[in-house]
Amino acid sequence: MFGRAPPSKSDNTKYYEILGVPKTASPDDLKKAYKKAAIKNHPDKGGDPEKFKELAHAYEVLSDPEKREIYDQYGEDALKEGMGGGGGGHDPFDIFSSFFGGSPFGGGGSGRGQRQRRGEDVVHPLKVSLEDLYLGTSKKLSLSRNVLCKKCSGKGSKSGASTKCTGCQGSGMKVTMRQLGRGMIQQMQHPCNECRGTGEIINDKDRCPQCKGEKVVQEKKVLQVHVEKGMQNGQKVTFPGEADEAPDTITGDIVFVLQQKEHPKFKRKGDDLFIEHTLPLAEALCGFQFVLSHLDGRQLLIKSQPGEVVKPDSYKAINDEGMPMYQRPFMKGKLYIHFNVEFPDSLSAEQVAALEKILPPKPQSELTDMEVDECEETTLHDVNIEDEMRRKQAHRQQEAYDDEDEDMHGGAQRVQCAQQ
Ligand SMILES: [Zn+2]
Ligand SMILES: [Zn+2]
Repeated sequence: MFGRAPPSKSDNTKYYEILGVPKTASPDDLKKAYKKAAIKNHPDKGGDPEKFKELAHAYEVLSDPEKREIYDQYGEDALKEGMGGGGGGHDPFDIFSSFFGGSPFGGGGSGRGQRQRRGEDVVHPLKVSLEDLYLGTSKKLSLSRNVLCKKCSGKGSKSGASTKCTGCQGSGMKVTMRQLGRGMIQQMQHPCNECRGTGEIINDKDRCPQCKGEKVVQEKKVLQVHVEKGMQNGQKVTFPGEADEAPDTITGDIVFVLQQKEHPKFKRKGDDLFIEHTLPLAEALCGFQFVLSHLDGRQLLIKSQPGEVVKPDSYKAINDEGMPMYQRPFMKGKLYIHFNVEFPDSLSAEQVAALEKILPPKPQSELTDMEVDECEETTLHDVNIEDEMRRKQAHRQQEAYDDEDEDMHGGAQRVQCAQQ
């Protein structure tokens, strides 16, 4: 900075102006502003390439907290010095595609062959128990993946040299034509077989001994997946840029998708837990108490109020004994208990008599003996109503089918008769 005029004040506002955000903009605001402006000014969409470059550069600086701080304090010039020779000047298309994971306009090969493509994400399911989601845990997983060969820095050759594949002129793709008849020609694009889609050929003698010209080698890697309290079934845990590496490719992510195993006792709905509990009739009427082992091993004593009667198919809830909420684990949902009541199948005459004495009196029958005598006797049978309805439905379908069959058969016979 010797002998140079101090940076003028406007030097540390230009990038904000380019993106059209205030200096107080959050990383999220910056992201949104860049996204909008970059799509609008993308040269593929007829935008101004200079403006597109400016946007990418401004975003590159402001999205990096360290660079942003330098820029805010000392301005653009300080950044240029700080970044040295190799720091600046990233390809604006790289920044753009790293942001969108490819072109948002679809169709990868739009002439700019040097642009980096984004590698595939690798998705793994990860089985977890409900206890894991309640308590939080971390799981170590060993994966093997491709990494760029260190010996040749991913070039595949000792000298770093490669020649353009003559089979595809370096594009990696070959186009074949196929005559479909009547002047129609089908064009088919497929990866070049000579260079296996890489677009370049490495001389046999020059091949890197480490990766044998493959540019990548296999590496074992242990990833520690942190399962946080309250995470949901289907929630993703992402390791950015940990998928397979490949030359000229932005490495994709490894994504673990949590899959909760069924729990024998607890069911989860959002932040709430549900259990089933069956009470014998005596407990439903006279009170109950039982111990429930919670997901963290605590023993909860669950009991009725004195004199309280629990009805079949009723619910009760305990506050704050549900699942911890994701990222707010000190808050918990509810624990719902669904009560079933087991009634006795039959009672003896003495039991009936005893019960009649205690239970609230039956409503007085308004039927006189005379009236009863005039009625017809009936018999009640036990039924399983669901089975019964299912059987009837199946029967109806069979009948409909039989009718159709008969119609067709009859028709065929008539035709035969006519022929004779
Ligand atoms: Zn080729
Ligand atoms: Zn190598």
